[in-house]
Amino acid sequence: MKLFFPLTRALIVLAVLAVVGCGEKAKPLLEIGGPTMGTYYSVKVVDPPKGITQEALRQGVERTLAQVISLISTYEPSSQLSQLNRNPSTDWIPVPRDLLDLIEQAQRLSSLSDGAFDVTVGPLVNLWGFGPEPGKDEVPSKAAIDAARARVGFRKLQLRDDPPAVRKERGDIYIDLSAIGEGYGADRIGAYLDSLGVRNYMAAVAGAIRVKGSNARGEPWAIAIEEPVAGERAVHRVVRLTDMGLSTSGDYRNFFDKDGRRYSHEIDPHTGFPVTHHLGSVTVVSDTATWADGLATALMVLGEDKGPALAQARGLAAYFIIHETGGGFSDRHTAAFAPYLAP
Ligand code: FAD
Repeated sequence: MKLFFPLTRALIVLAVLAVVGCGEKAKPLLEIGGPTMGTYYSVKVVDPPKGITQEALRQGVERTLAQVISLISTYEPSSQLSQLNRNPSTDWIPVPRDLLDLIEQAQRLSSLSDGAFDVTVGPLVNLWGFGPEPGKDEVPSKAAIDAARARVGFRKLQLRDDPPAVRKERGDIYIDLSAIGEGYGADRIGAYLDSLGVRNYMAAVAGAIRVKGSNARGEPWAIAIEEPVAGERAVHRVVRLTDMGLSTSGDYRNFFDKDGRRYSHEIDPHTGFPVTHHLGSVTVVSDTATWADGLATALMVLGEDKGPALAQARGLAAYFIIHETGGGFSDRHTAAFAPYLAP
């Protein structure tokens, strides 16, 4: 069985299990990939409509990703989000409709998770060195954490639908959409492929994936969830899905170790510290990659007790991998996730 691990830093290894038995005829496949958002994207199109070349596909996908970056990147000073973050006004600030819609989704995730998910967490993310400025792998002082925490709180943001605008309770509120930005990128690629009439595709930005139709063998897409171990690439479980979004958040790609303790980029807005529980990763399947991406971060921040309890209570399709104290992992999933688990 040939397992493909495309070049990606993704939290999910996109293992397209392509077992081409003798005599089976796989459908034509276009594949592209490359760097984006400090990580990688990967797109597979099965049975592409006539006239779609690999180069045209690449240009269209990279144009789409450039639009996402110019809308929501905190790494781009000229992006719409960076301009909003720099604006000191506490009056209504007009924003593009797409940006308001994303912030509105984030606010719904905050309400759902009782503030565990909170995109105003940006000052803490940057203080801990997980933002655009290179980190020092240091634990910030209590005073610095308290000062950053004073700027955090999703209820400090008000949204206005028409005309689209945001009002910040404090001028120094700083929004970080990294927790849903990759999922949003995968969904935007999906919308672009839909506009071309593509019926079977897998679009991934890092660990956020959008699939439609089937793979080259006419089956649901097979996607591997990797072991949450830094620096390794091992398949923990394979899921099969179609016409859905999927995303994994974890503590093993973006972290630093200090005095025997690991500090990951998943920040608890209530404490101002990176989460300290034993969850290694959470994978969520949902209608969109954006929503899956945000839910995975929310459940990751909630931890191995509150996360599964919320997911089960809300009928969310979620899969949890937990670090066991003696080494190794245990895993658990909600009932809604079971249909996606490959036998
Ligand atoms: P996820 O779990 O999906 O998200 C974790 C991230 O969400 C954290 O890194 C933090 O930013 C934020 N977060 C932490 N705690 C919370 C919380 N409680 N609630 C809400 N959010 C929280 N990285 C680069 O190095 N270079 C780049 O040029 C770059 N450009 C980017 C452009 C865009 C448009 C976006 C969206 C991101 C960009 N990034 C860049 C960041 C990078 O792509 C990832 O977004 C980041 O590493 C986190 O994604 P993840 O899937 O690993 O983790």
